[in-house]
Amino acid sequence: MLQQTQVKTVIPYWERWMQELPDIKSLAAARPERVLKLWEGLGYYTRARNLQRTAQILAVEHRGRFPRKQADMLALPGIGRYTSGAISSIAFNSPAPILDGNIVRVLTRLFAIARDPREPETNARLWQLAEYLVQKATSGNLPAAGSLPFVISGPCSALNQSLMELGALVCTPKLPRCRECPLRSECQAFAQNRVEELPKVAARAKTTPRNFIAFAIEWKGRWLLRQRPAGAVNAHLWEFPNFEANQSGLTPTKVFRRQFGVKPDGLKPLEVIRHSITRYRMTLRPFRAPWQGTEKLKNEFVWRNAEEVEALALTSAHRKLWRQLVSYA
Ligand code: SF4
Repeated sequence: MLQQTQVKTVIPYWERWMQELPDIKSLAAARPERVLKLWEGLGYYTRARNLQRTAQILAVEHRGRFPRKQADMLALPGIGRYTSGAISSIAFNSPAPILDGNIVRVLTRLFAIARDPREPETNARLWQLAEYLVQKATSGNLPAAGSLPFVISGPCSALNQSLMELGALVCTPKLPRCRECPLRSECQAFAQNRVEELPKVAARAKTTPRNFIAFAIEWKGRWLLRQRPAGAVNAHLWEFPNFEANQSGLTPTKVFRRQFGVKPDGLKPLEVIRHSITRYRMTLRPFRAPWQGTEKLKNEFVWRNAEEVEALALTSAHRKLWRQLVSYA
């Protein structure tokens, strides 16, 4: 579930997206660079590519309509068990289970499951419980909550959304509001006074720091950029030249000389940019560098003027770097 701050961040993107690509046909036919540009800043760029690929498959194989069968959904790029279960139950009221972090927390507490939910066996059990509950919902015991400010199309939809909301708002990781919880009388963790210790999640892998040096190189009103290759993280997005520099003693001047074959004619430090990708904690130290115009460049680099840079889909870190350059201009 999106948190309030995430919702505020996502809505402007969503509005822009819906204005330009309001339906499957327009998304299927859009230029891939435009799709990435509209997605810029949201991260998880594979999702944008999968979304367009899905639209293209729907346009060709499903007459532009989204399939109702979960098996057909699972054949679409980027749609797995969770997403197909969410669409099947919430949009079509099918008895399909879903299991996200919030539901895992609710179920492990409700049934006092004291094993790591990421273990395959425990995870399978949680899926079974989620399935059991959504199947039960089809018996019609759950009221349709038509008065709520979002659409609930039936009991399976209501059940899965209720579990997600309960986990997000009541059965929270810290300080769960058990006294107000509608499931309190059924909850085994509450009865056994074990709420705080569940779910038993093993410690996550340690984070790894990675250091990069980036160069914002300008020549005759144009900037040096490159496109990230297919298969890499943030594939097809654009960035300023940057190089990993984890060894001590590797100065920006040395990196510049190693990469471009010449000593820089002065490097002006810009603000350090920090960001994370999975377990990696990246520190990007950018420098503005002049260019003589005589040095030989590798083929991967291209020059782009400011207007063209604005139109490109940059990675989030390099969009922040570009904003610094614009604000200093
Ligand atoms: Fe979660 Fe407490 Fe409700 Fe149990 S009683 S489901 S621990 S909020």
